[in-house]
Amino acid sequence: MKTAVFEDLFKTVETFSDLPAEAIVKQDVLRLGICFDKGVFEKAGSYKPKDYFIFSFDHVSLSEMSEDVKFKAPEEIRLHGGPLNLEKTVISVRISSTSPYCVNLYEEKPALFLNNEFLGFVDFHEIPPFYSKKLSSGHLISEIIPVLEWGYLLYLTAYRLCQYWGEKEECQFCDINENYRQQKKEKRQYTGIKNPELITEALSYAAAEPGETKAWTLTGGSVTGKLNGMDEVDFYIQYIEAIENKFPQQWISKAVLQAFPKSDCQRLVDAGLKIYHPNYEVWDPVLFKKICPGKDQYIGRSEWIKRVVDSVEVFGAGNVIPNFVGGVELSKPHGFTDVDRAISSTREGLEYFMARGVIPRFTTWCPEPLSSLGHQQAPPLEYFCKLLLNWREVFENSKLSVPEGYGPAGVGRAVFSVSAFMDVIRI
Ligand code: SF4
Repeated sequence: MKTAVFEDLFKTVETFSDLPAEAIVKQDVLRLGICFDKGVFEKAGSYKPKDYFIFSFDHVSLSEMSEDVKFKAPEEIRLHGGPLNLEKTVISVRISSTSPYCVNLYEEKPALFLNNEFLGFVDFHEIPPFYSKKLSSGHLISEIIPVLEWGYLLYLTAYRLCQYWGEKEECQFCDINENYRQQKKEKRQYTGIKNPELITEALSYAAAEPGETKAWTLTGGSVTGKLNGMDEVDFYIQYIEAIENKFPQQWISKAVLQAFPKSDCQRLVDAGLKIYHPNYEVWDPVLFKKICPGKDQYIGRSEWIKRVVDSVEVFGAGNVIPNFVGGVELSKPHGFTDVDRAISSTREGLEYFMARGVIPRFTTWCPEPLSSLGHQQAPPLEYFCKLLLNWREVFENSKLSVPEGYGPAGVGRAVFSVSAFMDVIRI
């Protein structure tokens, strides 16, 4: 006898039969998070644990987790097989102690269960060989250039804080500043500002071991004043220059930064940046103001959008890929209360951008408890299914190419782990 939760998932897979089942399950696991039985960690052998690459992306704070989960939960799982005969599907781990999705042992191997029903076996990603190298400063490579997306992406968080400060400025879904504090409290090595030499030294080990790493993403919090005496463009450009001078075009270069005027974008391109992510987070004008108060005050929505579109002239069509936080438009207290109205608003943004050579992509909102929007329920699975259908339809109508820097596209191949937008691309 299957449980109601299990039956509901299967019904959703049937209802949205135009989507791969893998994408639906992935979105459900991302929105609800995963719990772990500690026996799994003992049996799983050697694998890469969560490196907390920028935000917590958890449904519980570190102080609420057991020591095992806190330090041994894997970065990602790769789900496959089971009653839905799933192809290999890479999913980012968001820890939750109350999720119906739990990793436990099945036939002595790690497996994902939904309300105690077997859903498929899971693999954990192996530790990259260069993680064992020692940096001259004593920093861990895993902290300086953590690897994500099943080995595809090196994630370079140069600045682990954001100068959008406090509730009146921070994006309301974001726990970057609180996460920094909780990691320090737990005595995890967590460097506030990484210098460019530290990053290039770490990258020299990754470069010497040709493997799966194909791209890097440079990121960190916004700089509204000065950081080490530099404004945001000057601060981040020093990393791009240092990396591209030392390893020209070895990896696809990407950066998550604020929306800059064209002249600053040109400087980024001249330094060697290929893909630009000026994240707009949420499309609706009222919600942008409420949910991104810092971005609204310092730059403003219209100017942000104008800069995103203008930057296509500098980076080229398809190379400006701003993120939006999928589902945050349904957050309480200001968000839509109706799934279809939320989708219709977000689709308007997708159409606006894609008609202008910009490819918005989305991550899955995680109501992190230390963020302003924490402690609330995730949006329903129906929303994510409709979002995937709308994203794919607008993308296919646009005739833009598959976004670069995300690895392979399509079900069973995608490695982008924080939403299923790459899994649903038909190639
Ligand atoms: S700009 Fe917003 S989302 Fe980005 S780090 Fe700052 S507060 Fe977080």
